[in-house]
Amino acid sequence: MDNHLTHDVCIIGGNIAGSYLAYLLASNGVSVVVVEQNRTPGLPLQCAGIVSQRFSNIVEIDPSIIINRVNTAWLILENGKRVSVSIQDNPYVLDRVKLDQYFYKKAESAGVRYLVHEKFLTCEKTDECMFINTNRRTIRAKILVGCDGPNSRVAKLHGITHNIIPAKQIRILYPYPNCSVSMYFKEYWQNLFGWIIPEGEGICRIGLGCKKNLKSSFASFLDEIQADKSHIIEYLGGQILIGYPKRIAFDRTILLGDAAGMVKATTGGGINTLLKASTYASEAILKSLEENKFSSQFYITHYQNSRGIRQLKRNILLHYMARLIMINFTQKDYEMCFLLLNQPKTKELLLKYGDMDFPLRFVLKILMRVDLWKLLFIIVARVLRKLPKIIRDLVNGG
Ligand SMILES: Cc1cc2nc3c(=O)[nH]c(=O)nc-3n(C[C@H](O)[C@H](O)[C@H](O)COP(=O)(O)OP(=O)(O)OC[C@H]3O[C@@H](n4cnc5c(N)ncnc54)[C@H](O)[C@@H]3O)c2cc1C
Repeated sequence: MDNHLTHDVCIIGGNIAGSYLAYLLASNGVSVVVVEQNRTPGLPLQCAGIVSQRFSNIVEIDPSIIINRVNTAWLILENGKRVSVSIQDNPYVLDRVKLDQYFYKKAESAGVRYLVHEKFLTCEKTDECMFINTNRRTIRAKILVGCDGPNSRVAKLHGITHNIIPAKQIRILYPYPNCSVSMYFKEYWQNLFGWIIPEGEGICRIGLGCKKNLKSSFASFLDEIQADKSHIIEYLGGQILIGYPKRIAFDRTILLGDAAGMVKATTGGGINTLLKASTYASEAILKSLEENKFSSQFYITHYQNSRGIRQLKRNILLHYMARLIMINFTQKDYEMCFLLLNQPKTKELLLKYGDMDFPLRFVLKILMRVDLWKLLFIIVARVLRKLPKIIRDLVNGG
């Protein structure tokens, strides 16, 4: 075993963020090592795998990674009231394991060295380089990148922690239309929601993210939707990050993906955001190696405050604000929103301007519809009544 390795960049975490960034860097001639604590990058699956169509504009992938497309989302309340939302986007359902392994293989072919089943522990910075300590060796590198997920150790060592919500998910044979997804909202679950996402071939991903009594809540959710437990193929889990990117650039170190808080707090989706952010991270790292500059100020200017990251951050913050409002929603509040979503004009605007990743355009369009103002006013008034609590949540980090 090589006890002392030297590379330009050491990435912690070999899932999608780590492998995609490693691939981008290695394709540009950078020497990269990836440290991954699991035996196989991409496993175990911890994702529902649904992304907007924007995904295929960001990365080129093997088409077999897209296993289904959906065109309708059903939003369902505790009392059974429901509303359907259709957007032109027709989101993709991905084979997430295949996606992670696609970039893992591409990165390896581009020359990236993977150290699997190896855990990052600590790091030390000097003026010349970083020493990155794993449970097996010390790696010398110019730059450290934390792609180590929502519980990122790299982030924690730099004083950053994230608010995370545990989730349970199963893959199960379950009769369900192939073209729609369902999201269930209950006051008791509060923080997130339950979901049914069809993979195709009669298999669905059914999951729940909630802070309170996850195990029993998930069991009763499965009973409620009459999921036959004898048809379960696989039990999965994970942690969904609810927050927004705080500081993501430090001396010789940057954060990316869930480690950086790059997740939409309304849906828990992080794939498209981190793929986009990877290109900005790669540009900043290439520039830093070229100019031999590794200070926090350099990465703040060229990564954290770059135009692309600022735009991503604005959108993630909007999702986070929406989440803080939703956390404080009663079923009655949801019902008012459903009433709005059920208006033919809203449905038309959703179809035209609905966007899972960037909802701002739809929000602006709906605000311009005078005939919807009465309903909007009622909803805004309900939100305003909760404003002190929402602000308290914002100040306390959710
Ligand atoms: C249940 C669930 C459902 C989701 N559904 C969706 C969805 O439908 N659509 C969507 O866009 N997003 C979804 N997400 C979010 C999405 O999965 C994440 O945003 C994405 O996986 C983040 O990728 P990442 O590479 O940044 O981090 P991760 O995928 O968390 O990977 C981090 C990697 O770092 C490794 N690691 C951690 N610590 C160490 C260490 N100390 N040493 C070495 N290695 C380490 C881990 O083993 C892991 O491989 C979901 C998440 C969950 C949990």
